[in-house]
Amino acid sequence: MHDMGRMYVKDPVGILRDVFGHAEFRGLQEDVVRHVMGGGDAVVLFPTGAGKSLCYQVPALCRQGVAIVVSPLIALMRDQVEALRQSGVAAAAYNSALSPEEMRKVREELLSGGLKLLYVAPERLMTPGFQSMLQDVAISLFAIDEAHCVSQWGHDFRPEYRELSSLAADFPGVPRIALTATADPMTRADIIEKLALKEAEVFATSFDRPNISYAIVQRQKGKDQLLDVLRRRQGDSGIVYCLSRKKVEQTAEWLNEKGVRALPYHAGMDAGVRSRNQDAFLKEDGLCLV
Ligand code: ADP
Repeated sequence: MHDMGRMYVKDPVGILRDVFGHAEFRGLQEDVVRHVMGGGDAVVLFPTGAGKSLCYQVPALCRQGVAIVVSPLIALMRDQVEALRQSGVAAAAYNSALSPEEMRKVREELLSGGLKLLYVAPERLMTPGFQSMLQDVAISLFAIDEAHCVSQWGHDFRPEYRELSSLAADFPGVPRIALTATADPMTRADIIEKLALKEAEVFATSFDRPNISYAIVQRQKGKDQLLDVLRRRQGDSGIVYCLSRKKVEQTAEWLNEKGVRALPYHAGMDAGVRSRNQDAFLKEDGLCLV
């Protein structure tokens, strides 16, 4: 694996093109990238799919040293690391899914300066052992992904995220970038306060999703109203939510009787049937999943 930092001399657009295969930055990406490359802290509030990862991955490849990326879930880390490695980037994850031997290898890579990005869970990052190891390496930046986990207002609250505030004092001069798609004002204020990011520049884009709309109507004859909606959208795919497993089963059965092709899906079903129903929903048109 080669050192991308040395191969492409600090040109973010070149990195975007040569490493990630994209012709140009989207939205505010370039503003974030240039701010962080210059050493500034950033809070990035983009909706899902807007391209938050590149906001820290490109600076990570432009700056000297290794980027430490805090991520709450092993599955998220694995996806990111795999994608980066496929692009030829020296990236690794350090977590409990690794064997002791694999962990030793990652530590060696880190200490020898061979890594450009290292993904860790917050509780791992804050252990004394990990902290002292980090004192011996050059760090390009800290990225705090899913930063809403720091807020009690959200549903993903992770108390360990609170500890991350000490990074500011422990690693002065290392830029920190917090990213989330959860942007309500209370969570936003919490991220800035609890992660000690008062000096950070906030980059926020619109959360309007023109292809998503909500409508609320008064319930009169619930079933008839449901059938009416589904009949008006015949041929489309749709999801009907029910409050209980029994209701799921009953509703799916009733819809089929009424000529609407529907399949049940809930946590209590046989796993094989459930995944067959999910596959059918992904593949077929005009199918309703309850
Ligand atoms: P988020 O974390 O905001 O949900 P991701 O970082 O996962 O979004 O990016 C979503 C998708 O958009 C990915 O497939 C990524 O490759 C693509 N993407 C991001 N930035 C660009 C860009 N500048 N040009 C083209 N595709 C991009």
